[in-house]
Amino acid sequence: MPYVWQTAGPGEPLQRQEVEPLTPGPGELVLEVLHSGLCHSDLSMLDNAWGMSSYPLVAGHEAVGRVAAVGDGVDPAHIGQLRGLGWFAGSCGHCFQCLAGRANLCRSTEATIVGRAGAFASEVKARQDWAIPLPEDLPVADAGPLFCGGITVFAPLMDEAVSPTSRVAVIGVGGLGHLALQFCRAWGCEVTALTTNLAKADEARALGAHRVVPLAELAGEAGRFDLIINTANQPLDWAAVIAALAPLGRLHQLGAVLEPMTVNAFDLIVSRRMITGSPTSSPASLLKMVEFCSRHAIRPMVEHLPMARINEAIERLHRGDVRYRFVLDGPA
Ligand SMILES: [Zn+2]
Ligand SMILES: [Zn+2]
Repeated sequence: MPYVWQTAGPGEPLQRQEVEPLTPGPGELVLEVLHSGLCHSDLSMLDNAWGMSSYPLVAGHEAVGRVAAVGDGVDPAHIGQLRGLGWFAGSCGHCFQCLAGRANLCRSTEATIVGRAGAFASEVKARQDWAIPLPEDLPVADAGPLFCGGITVFAPLMDEAVSPTSRVAVIGVGGLGHLALQFCRAWGCEVTALTTNLAKADEARALGAHRVVPLAELAGEAGRFDLIINTANQPLDWAAVIAALAPLGRLHQLGAVLEPMTVNAFDLIVSRRMITGSPTSSPASLLKMVEFCSRHAIRPMVEHLPMARINEAIERLHRGDVRYRFVLDGPA
């Protein structure tokens, strides 16, 4: 019998619940979930921090699974393939943004865990174009976090066509940041890790940082960076962050800070600086990301727990007690 790990309300523990088997609709497929990463956005959804959760809620949006069933219009030869699924599980396929290759900006996107059951389960459903075939040389058990955490930080490099001669800074060495450092190094950039936790300095260098700078010393970096990827979801000294950008530099915001970000107009005007953000990326960028990870041996650093210990993983992630991502292993 298929099952989900669901929560009845904000702050409630997840409980295992048996459910009816999923039936794939036209263009859809069902993945048997093998491994499921735990992303900070899962906590936000479980706790209704964004005000868009509906209960009972089944989170989980960094899945690796095997195609178990396909709907009309999907080639049955895909059954048995290993695929990865992230934040988005569907888009309309025919609007301007979808046709332009930016399906993550489609107004009809279906998020994997919004109004539908995610991957803390024995199976999960998605449109076939959002379930990305896994290259053979990616480790199946560790690949899940690439499909949300990984693509989130790959997006600014890929979609904004960042030059390999750029000086890039990554704020935060965590679930997103530890992947951003690897991507930026392999992309060819000069890489600076900005962190409040210098205990992570050696690990940041091993992950690809040329330099590690305490966030409190950002004032000494004025005018340096062509791109700052901010993975932190806490308010920062925004004036100091903007001042650290070179002319034409870009602050790319990925941490979901709930407070407004205040900036001084002149700091943007005088040096033509930019502030941008992005919601993961398109299926095309996901395909390029997994290829890039294969070529450069980019891997999430994960700690595995059986899915039956999911509440323990959630409690530890709340405390920041993980380097750098939990992956829950099924079946449980
Ligand atoms: Zn669309
Ligand atoms: Zn996520």
